[in-house]
Order: sequence, then C-alpha cells, then structure tokens
Amino acid sequence: MPHIRPQSTVDSALRCSDEGMPDADNAALHGVAVKTIRRWRRLYQRRGVPRGQAHCSVPCPRCDDAPLDHPAYAELLGWYLGDGHISRQRRGVYGLHIINDRRYIQDVARIADLMRRVKPASRPHRRNVPGAVIVTASWKHWPCVFPQHGPGRKHERPIVLDDWQRSIVEAHPADFLRGLFHSDGCRANNWTRKVVAGEWKRYDYPRWQFSNVSTDIRELCCWALDLVDVPWRQSNDHTISVSTRAGVARLDELIGPKA
Ligand SMILES: [Zn+2]
Repeated sequence: MPHIRPQSTVDSALRCSDEGMPDADNAALHGVAVKTIRRWRRLYQRRGVPRGQAHCSVPCPRCDDAPLDHPAYAELLGWYLGDGHISRQRRGVYGLHIINDRRYIQDVARIADLMRRVKPASRPHRRNVPGAVIVTASWKHWPCVFPQHGPGRKHERPIVLDDWQRSIVEAHPADFLRGLFHSDGCRANNWTRKVVAGEWKRYDYPRWQFSNVSTDIRELCCWALDLVDVPWRQSNDHTISVSTRAGVARLDELIGPKA
C-alpha cells in the first residue's frame, strides 16, 4: 500500500509505537493525525503486513546458504517450540510470532534480539494482548528455518527436528534449553518441614519445571537436559521437573533466571 508519508516516517512512528509511545504523542512527534498512527498500527502491528521490503531480500540459511547464528538459532528454536507459531501473511511472507508473559520484560527484548540475529536486518514488532506480549518478525523463509511449521496445533502433529537442527542443538544445548524453559517453564520454590535434633525446620527446594502438551516437545527437552547432564523426571502427564539440588544449580547457571 503506497503511503503519502515517506517510509522513514512510517518506520519511525511504528518503532515509537513498538516501544509503547501513546498514539497521541506519536502523532504529535511525527506531524500526522492520530487516526493515521492508528491505521499504521492496524496494518503493520495487528495484521502483520510486512514493513518496507527488508523481509524479501534477506537471504536464507537453507535456500541461499546464508550464514546462521547457531546459538541464537538454538534458543529461538526453543522459544518457537515452547510458545511460538508461524502464520502465512501476504505474498508468500510468513510471520514468526512468539508469545511471552508481559511480566518478563527482558525476555521480550531478548526474543526480538534473537529474531534479529537469526534474520539479520529484521525489525520485530511487539503487540500487547491481555497478560502477554507477542513479538513478530516477517520473512519468506521462516518455514525453511523452522520446518516444524505445519497446519494445526503443535501437540496435534509430530514435532521432529531435522538432522541439521539436531546438530545445532547438540552444539548449543544450553541455548535451546533457555528458550524452552523461559517460554514454557517456571522456576518454583517448594518447601517442606523436617524434624532435626528435635526441632521443626523449614527446607526450601527450588526446582525448574517444563510443561508442554506435546510429547515430542517434552522429549526434546529431556534429550537436551541429557546433553548437559541435568537429571530430570516426568512429574505429571505434561511436566518435566528438574529438582535435584545439583541439577537446579546447573540449570540456573546454564539458562539464567526468568527476567
Ligand atoms: Zn529459505
């Protein structure tokens, strides 16, 4: 869609909007009507129309042998499997959307950064939904780098990594685990009381849990935990727990706190 305003104005206004600037302030800053800002947001943020032409020209690691940032890819794969999806947009372009709890602000910034590292020159945008933020980047090649894309929900279809994806995760298991645990995991504190030398004492047991309804995705999580020698157990139908003291400490060190 042609704009009367230069593309640089549209881009700048959308960046401000991505960063949370209210529409009225944004309109005043860019010298356009509030309804123009709203129209841009509707087109580019809500409907996910690709911005500019950057989404077309970035070469693909699979089709064009473009370089791929492996640690960033391993982590983004974890986020995608945990809480992401790919949607078809217009003209053969796809949107990669990752949903994150809005309380974890640093993780939202991190997801956008990972998208930029996997698809150089991309400009991920953020959209607020109740309780969460959706980070989206558009590219023709998302289905090439995430071939797990397919119709239906992830837990209703097999999720099997290609050999090249397995090799990347084998080289960067902590990054992959970080994506998985920061999207679909939590670090909980359990506690219990014990009598020690005649006195009741309280003991805290932190643990990491990963919950996902897809058996295949849970198995990938367990495989990656095995790669870093972190003991795990299946604690209920959909949940993997890491609860030994050494295992929790190792995972803390590898994947960091949710932030
Ligand atoms: Zn491709």
